Amino acid sequence: MSSQEQLLEGLNGPQRDAVTHSGAPLLIVAGAGSGKTRVLTHRIAHLMAERGVRPGEILAITFTNKAAAEMKERIQALLGVRAANTMWTMTFHSACVRILRREAHRLGYPSSFTIYDSADSARLMQLVCKEMDLDPKRFPPKSFSFQVSNLKNELVDYDTAAEQAQTEQEKKLAEAYQLYQRRLHEAGAMDFDDLIMVTVNLFQMFPDVAEYYRRRFRHVMVDEYQDTNHAQYAFVRELVGAAEDSDTGVVPPAELCVVGDADQSIYAFRGATIRNILEFERDFPSARTILLEQNYRSTQNILSAANAVIDRNEGRPAKNLWSEQGDGPAITGYVADNEHDEAAFVVGEIDKLTDEGTVTPSQVAVFYRTNAQSRVFEDVFIRTGLPYKIVGGVRFYERKEIRDILAYLRVLANPEDTVSLRRILNVPKRGIGARAEEAVELFAARERISFSRALRRVDEAPGIATRSVKAVQNFTALLDELAEAVPGSTPAEVVEAVLSKTGYLSELAESKDLQDESRVENLEEFVDVAREFEHTFAALLEEEPPDEDEEDGAVPSGTLDPGEPTLVDFLERISLVADTDQIPDADDTGGVVTLMTLHAAKGLEFPAVFLTGMEDGVFPHTRTLGDKTQLEEERRLAYVGLTRAQRLLYVSRAAVRSAWGTPSYNPGSRFLDEIPASLVDWRRAESSLAAPPSRGIGGGRGSGGFGSTFGGGPRRGTGKEAPTLGVGDLVNHDSFGMGRVQLVEGAGDKTKARIDFGADIGEKDFLVKYAPIEKL
Ligand code: ATP
Ligand code: MG
Repeated sequence: MSSQEQLLEGLNGPQRDAVTHSGAPLLIVAGAGSGKTRVLTHRIAHLMAERGVRPGEILAITFTNKAAAEMKERIQALLGVRAANTMWTMTFHSACVRILRREAHRLGYPSSFTIYDSADSARLMQLVCKEMDLDPKRFPPKSFSFQVSNLKNELVDYDTAAEQAQTEQEKKLAEAYQLYQRRLHEAGAMDFDDLIMVTVNLFQMFPDVAEYYRRRFRHVMVDEYQDTNHAQYAFVRELVGAAEDSDTGVVPPAELCVVGDADQSIYAFRGATIRNILEFERDFPSARTILLEQNYRSTQNILSAANAVIDRNEGRPAKNLWSEQGDGPAITGYVADNEHDEAAFVVGEIDKLTDEGTVTPSQVAVFYRTNAQSRVFEDVFIRTGLPYKIVGGVRFYERKEIRDILAYLRVLANPEDTVSLRRILNVPKRGIGARAEEAVELFAARERISFSRALRRVDEAPGIATRSVKAVQNFTALLDELAEAVPGSTPAEVVEAVLSKTGYLSELAESKDLQDESRVENLEEFVDVAREFEHTFAALLEEEPPDEDEEDGAVPSGTLDPGEPTLVDFLERISLVADTDQIPDADDTGGVVTLMTLHAAKGLEFPAVFLTGMEDGVFPHTRTLGDKTQLEEERRLAYVGLTRAQRLLYVSRAAVRSAWGTPSYNPGSRFLDEIPASLVDWRRAESSLAAPPSRGIGGGRGSGGFGSTFGGGPRRGTGKEAPTLGVGDLVNHDSFGMGRVQLVEGAGDKTKARIDFGADIGEKDFLVKYAPIEKL
């Protein structure tokens, strides 16, 4: 068999067309499990094997680092280690970081710029709002962070934001945006959204840079295209080069191939727009579209259920997704008394399936709508002794001690990183109090110097106690001592030096507190992380021979060589580890069960899937109940969840679930009603618990009898239409006046809201339906 045949074996007709297509931009739109990702991988292999494309000429964008690693693996299996390693298979963020490390100096950033994750940027926004003297009640920094992120995703800079600002809110926002950007720039840092936006700006401001990358990447591919936001779209467009650019003769446009499924667009809240997929043909008039209709992942029962659900969304082109796998077993349904009962059912069932040898633990996934739902499952997993892994939720890297040590490392890599510097200023405690910190801050503002420089001149700062001056000087001397050792040390050695020289470790070690004990264990683990990083780095160097493919001079290979693992490399690796990267490998004895939110599940597949918390108010999420657009996005999320399953699918819900310590009776999810009844085998249809609002499966949507005295007790039968509230909404209350919604819980008639009425009145809880409130 020729290599061409080998590559095309195991592909159907339209898949082959997609793999062998050349020239015009190619859009593959197709339902879940129809082989889109598989087509991308084979296309890459085909480009190299049959069309003589060099691995260095290909950029393949995936949605997570995990997906990138999987694609690399598949390429490696088809074409060997070397091809896989020299190719850029990565997320938008990683690709932009690589480009920016090389080019950011043109915009005045150090090439070792720091990457702020969302916690860092939230803190910086807080500092900015404080500096602007904004009332946090009227101008919540969190909301500013969110809005600035949205603006960046839309490529709106602060000048434009200022021009467009009408209300006082918008004006302050634009101001905060500008100051925030200034502080970031001064700190030599970029936040996650900057990575994309700055790269796009760079391409637009420096045509030679754009041209360089256009020459380099002759083939650009994007998986999960439906979830790209405007900035990412612009990045792709800049990189590929529009057809009109070719008229001016510089570089002909690269070949573009994007694959996606509009029905799986689930990141609208992050600025992703299905617009990109719906309008692809308009943006690239010569584009060719290929449809894939055969699903290779799931049984027909699972597909029929998923198709029936997604069919309820309006204005989508009908899809005809079919499977050859046969009907398969029925979907199993279960109505639990409460969330603990639900977890016990799920874990019991997994235990049974793995005991029987039907599946291994790694072939099972448990999905839920929100992170908070994981805890109950974790409890039962731990008690049962079944191995499990959480993807998402509170991660290792978000624990305090890990963030502290990371802050030290970041300051060592980039002394101007103010947020990190201020985080560790008095950690561990060294007698630099808030007053001293403020004095340094004022001094920095007066002298127009950075916080870090002000620290170095602390003796000149007015109003600072001699004791504090001494403490600060000791601190900067300590940083200098640590910094001096960095160039000759490996990342793990730097970590160890920080832990011992700062006294961080000894302080914890002396403590009797159990939590401090686990902190020490976490830090130990972190040293291992650094060691592991060095090893994988070394292994990569050994595997990767010098790349003679690039000797034509198109790419100066030196700039892309990994070299010795440095502290900056290590920090970069860590800041790019997405939640979804924690999915365990299935190779160890049977592996572990994966628990994750539905959002993290995109692109994955499992032989057995448990879709839990199927209740209105949980999934679909309360926040979305009154909003058609948001409900449709929830429905797409349900479609994603259902279509992850290959053979066994379970759907479950709890009749009662506690929310804020009070029982909440949620009706079954409307998505359950949308699954044809004939496809579901209800193991337990009715909760034995006499729950006030319990309605039969498939029955009417009964109104609940919420029985607590929440918010002064329900006054029934007012007949008033409850306003649909979301966090951040402004409301007016008959007696308390204006307030802002802080929290919303429950569904329908039982929706509760916590509203903040400002300093005098404070926060109050209400049952929305019965409260005299009006949304403004
Ligand atoms: P999603 O929309 O969920 O990302 P997808 O369209 O990317 O799905 P893949 O993950 O590429 O689908 O494929 C789904 C499964 O079907 C994979 O296990 C893949 O190996 C298998 N598959 C795809 N095409 C074929 C084929 N022609 N023959 C056999 N198996 C196939
Ligand atoms: Mg895919």
